[in-house]
Amino acid sequence: MPDPKTGDSVKVKTSDKEFEGILMPIPDILDKDVTVIKLDNGYNIGIDNKKIKKIELIKGYKKPSHSKKKLKPKKGLPNITIISAGGTISSKVDYRTGGVYADYTAEDFTSMMPELADIANLKAKKIMSIMSEDMTPKEWRLLAIEIEKELDSGADGVVVTQGTDTLHYTSAALSFLLKDLSKPVILTAAQRSIDRGSSDAFMNLICAVKAAASDIAEVSTCMHGTTNDDYCLLIKGTKARKMHTSRRDAFRPINDLPLAKIYEGGKIDVLDKDHKKRSDTKTKADTKFQEKIALLHVYPGMDPSLLDNYKDYKGLVIAATGLGNIPQSLFNKIKEIDMPIVIAPQTIYGRVHPLVYANLRELSIKLNCIFAEDMTPETAYAKLGYVLGHTSKIEEVKEQMQANISGEITKRSLEKTFLY
Ligand code: ASP
Repeated sequence: MPDPKTGDSVKVKTSDKEFEGILMPIPDILDKDVTVIKLDNGYNIGIDNKKIKKIELIKGYKKPSHSKKKLKPKKGLPNITIISAGGTISSKVDYRTGGVYADYTAEDFTSMMPELADIANLKAKKIMSIMSEDMTPKEWRLLAIEIEKELDSGADGVVVTQGTDTLHYTSAALSFLLKDLSKPVILTAAQRSIDRGSSDAFMNLICAVKAAASDIAEVSTCMHGTTNDDYCLLIKGTKARKMHTSRRDAFRPINDLPLAKIYEGGKIDVLDKDHKKRSDTKTKADTKFQEKIALLHVYPGMDPSLLDNYKDYKGLVIAATGLGNIPQSLFNKIKEIDMPIVIAPQTIYGRVHPLVYANLRELSIKLNCIFAEDMTPETAYAKLGYVLGHTSKIEEVKEQMQANISGEITKRSLEKTFLY
């Protein structure tokens, strides 16, 4: 039998352990006396060559195939467009070259998940292929424009696939850019890539397509609700947040309940009966967005002169401590900065409150800071960009930041929303 090569599935035996996985190329930074394999859970481990007794070939490397089979539309099924923007969900690593070799298309998704073709007639549009940490408001605008095009030319719903890291920024931004939406726009992603046994991509995508065909005409995220494959949670785009680096159920609703639970088998449990309902109104992307804004996290010992860097900005969101506190040492600088300053909770859960402490009163009354109720800092950031894209008058900015435009502010904080 030939020696295993990079990309092959192997079993590595040491004197006391056995590891199964894919033989990986050795990165330059690693000692050459190790063998690296990718385990089924996606983690790479390095095994000291001196300890290895044997490497057995389980299965040879197979070049990933990229199916291009065209799909025939089926009568009576809804038309759903999947717009892909990159991230782990559309990437596949070619372990022999180490590169990400291609993006999946709708045809690939349906050949891997034949059940998708029974839920909807799918159309695929790849508009970019980047990691979500590299996305900017420009990409949010582009997405909004593409979604408008699709919904106004026959799609009954749109699924956007992108990376998980900033999915909640995109979902919040789209909630404002598409605020008069009349059809579902569902954002989904994967914590583990499609070529791993434990990937969440399949179920997330199937549930997202079901949600896109539903009556829930909101921008929302659709990701695993538990660590098992029980159901996905559909969460309002302005209330979703990635709350864990790696768990498949990382996306949680913040200060709100989910819109619905979506089961792979097709059942949809609607938890928020007040959601917007599907209608035939045209979609209009409103993409005016002020990009010269920043999101800052304050902390004990923060050097006030850091704020000097933002003098030519048009607005700031400050993720403040507790109920909305900022170290008093920053007050003078805040007075000097002439721009809207929005206060959101660093605690993520809960509501900022301008009147509880004297310092908070000073921030809200003398320094005219805008308290963002129970919005997450990320949602407040996306909303400030949207609001400043339309007005720079401080009183109007204040009024709009404190009004509920797209489900971002809940009136009452319900007990059961904490750590849902
Ligand atoms: N860093 C990646 C991204 O957000 C992770 C992922 O795709 O989930 O694009």
